[in-house]
Amino acid sequence: MGSFHLTKMSFKNLVKKPATKMYPVVAPTYTKMTKGHIACDIKTCILCGICEKRCPTYAITVNKPDETWTINRFACIQCYSCVRACPKTCLDMKPDYTKAATEMSTVTIKKPELTAEEKAAKEAAEKEKAERIAKAKAAKDAKDTKAT
Ligand code: SF4
Ligand code: SF4
Repeated sequence: MGSFHLTKMSFKNLVKKPATKMYPVVAPTYTKMTKGHIACDIKTCILCGICEKRCPTYAITVNKPDETWTINRFACIQCYSCVRACPKTCLDMKPDYTKAATEMSTVTIKKPELTAEEKAAKEAAEKEKAERIAKAKAAKDAKDTKAT
């Protein structure tokens, strides 16, 4: 490369906008495709544990008795497996990053206490489900008895 080209390049670089940003003074721009962090809508989550089973890095732990959903963000490789597997679509890849940390830690989200109305609705739904199962079982038993 001749000295003419070098001088031309130097002048060009002097006047053109820098290719990098002054982070963290200037906030980064996130696109829809940014693999930021996994978020869980715990209200919709049914604690089925499918995301835990699908996670290739064991980053998720679901504790049904304690009603908690935990993620180790240091282990997550942003592969989307949990997002795709969740039957309630309550997992999402948020296009922004969590704060930098100096120590390894996990994030645990607990299911909120149900309101009186939500509790009543849940009990009614469970009762209705139990009745439906009992009815189907009785019908099957009656069919089996008839057949023998
Ligand atoms: S797969 Fe979805 S519904 Fe099931 S435990 Fe995970 S986040 Fe909750
Ligand atoms: S994005 Fe992949 S690595 Fe991260 S929690 Fe979900 S399944 Fe695990």
